[in-house]
Amino acid sequence: MTVAFPKKSPGDIKAGQMVSLTILAEGPIAPAGGPPLTAQVRIPVERLRRGPTGHRYAIHIRKWRGTTVSPVSLTQPGDPWRLISEPPPAGLRELLDDTRFLAQHVYGVAMSTLEIFESTLGRRMPWNPEGRVVLKARDLVTATDTGYERGTNIIRFGSVDRMGYKVPTALYRDIVAHEVTHAILDGFRPAWADQMATMEQLAMHEALADIVAILSVFSSKEVVYRQLEAAAGGFEVGQQVDDEVLMRSLFDFARDLFARGPLREPFVGAAPEGWQLLPEPHARGAVVVGAVLRAVQRLWAERNARYGGFHSLQQKAESGSIVATRILRMVIRGLSYMPPVDVSWRDLLRGIIAADLDMVPDDAHGYREALQAEFSAIGLRRVSLNNISGVENYSGLRYPIRLSALGSDPQEVQRFVWENPRLLEAARLERRTPLSSTRVRTSERVSPDGFIISEIGASFIQTVRMSRKEAYVRLGVKTGRDFIDVRGGGLLRFDAGGRLVYAALKPVMDRERQGQLFGSDQHHEAEQAASSGVRNKFHGTGD
Ligand SMILES: [Zn+2]
Repeated sequence: MTVAFPKKSPGDIKAGQMVSLTILAEGPIAPAGGPPLTAQVRIPVERLRRGPTGHRYAIHIRKWRGTTVSPVSLTQPGDPWRLISEPPPAGLRELLDDTRFLAQHVYGVAMSTLEIFESTLGRRMPWNPEGRVVLKARDLVTATDTGYERGTNIIRFGSVDRMGYKVPTALYRDIVAHEVTHAILDGFRPAWADQMATMEQLAMHEALADIVAILSVFSSKEVVYRQLEAAAGGFEVGQQVDDEVLMRSLFDFARDLFARGPLREPFVGAAPEGWQLLPEPHARGAVVVGAVLRAVQRLWAERNARYGGFHSLQQKAESGSIVATRILRMVIRGLSYMPPVDVSWRDLLRGIIAADLDMVPDDAHGYREALQAEFSAIGLRRVSLNNISGVENYSGLRYPIRLSALGSDPQEVQRFVWENPRLLEAARLERRTPLSSTRVRTSERVSPDGFIISEIGASFIQTVRMSRKEAYVRLGVKTGRDFIDVRGGGLLRFDAGGRLVYAALKPVMDRERQGQLFGSDQHHEAEQAASSGVRNKFHGTGD
């Protein structure tokens, strides 16, 4: 028996076509009363079922009472390819009751967040585990339980009480972008947040999620304009917008986002003493977020200065959004230059700078310098441009006959490392233990001058279980446990011709590195206790 399959072709919609969707630029409540600001996001068209459910996301919206989910359709009846963008209702009460708009907003923000990663890195970003991410946009949980759950592909959004209403946290653009970023990072580099990840990696997750959230909201020029107005207390004609106003607008904005509810830690402007040892990941991450925002502010002021006094407030707002978007893309691009395991803040800075050097060799406006300077101001040493690629010591490497195999076959990458003892030695791999994970990906990125850069990224991780005695003899690690696990790994980037052009390694059998990472049993236990609370449900709230 043949089953009639409804004919639902994409019609005149072409592969890769983008559409605009209206979302709330910040959240449902405008600071000055009145209707909330909206923004348009451009997202790739896909076939969307009721739910809405697409290829990457399913959005579940619970009825206000009970646990039943009421499916919503965002497309034209009978045509799952034809997305319909509707404006939000003007009143807050109506907006909060509008299930369809909630679905449209969440879908738009989630898709555009994924899109900026995929278009910047030139590759698909998988989930961990595979499948769809389910966004429970109006879940029964409290606001503090809003978050991405590792291992289940679920992001729950609770509600906050505002002006006598229960407001779904999913209506805030930054909160959706933040949680979706956790999911994206977890799919990209599972070891950044797994059982063995230390507090520094969890803090990195939070910092990156916040940077994406803040800068993606700030990339709307409407938001920047409103923020500029507020910071200056209403402009007079011809009034100067000085650096201080820019600074205030950006940081007040970030603080507003953070201070919104029980979800956020208060934003920290200046780096507190010893911040790298703070026991809470959001607090550590906030310092790095601050450094990135100061770089945005500095570049924004410089850009305005280049245009002189002829720049209108609108143009200044546009400049702010352009700078924010560029910095956001720089940070995201840096991710694919970071090691797959044990990432540190220095790895983040090196990744950003190295990726940008490849993409924009000539840094005419000082973007790299601004980031280097601001990281240095919070106590993270500048990265030297000498051998930033990490491969200058590896001349005469032995390559496979079929270079393209490196881009498709993890075995080929393992063989490549094996056949190049100098690389093997640098990664300090344990000879008897197989690699626990090897991933290869090709990426195609378009540089600002329109050239396509095609590369292969390969990452590997090795985890070695050692007895108490072995740990002491081979690594000098003293432990009272029966055994410990140590690990390391590396990231290798190959150019289109298959030549190694970049390496970021975390040596495995490295006494100094493992000694520092493990510390003592006591340190190790404290670290594990602190991080286990935040690991499985990202966005622990800090209270
Ligand atoms: Zn978070």
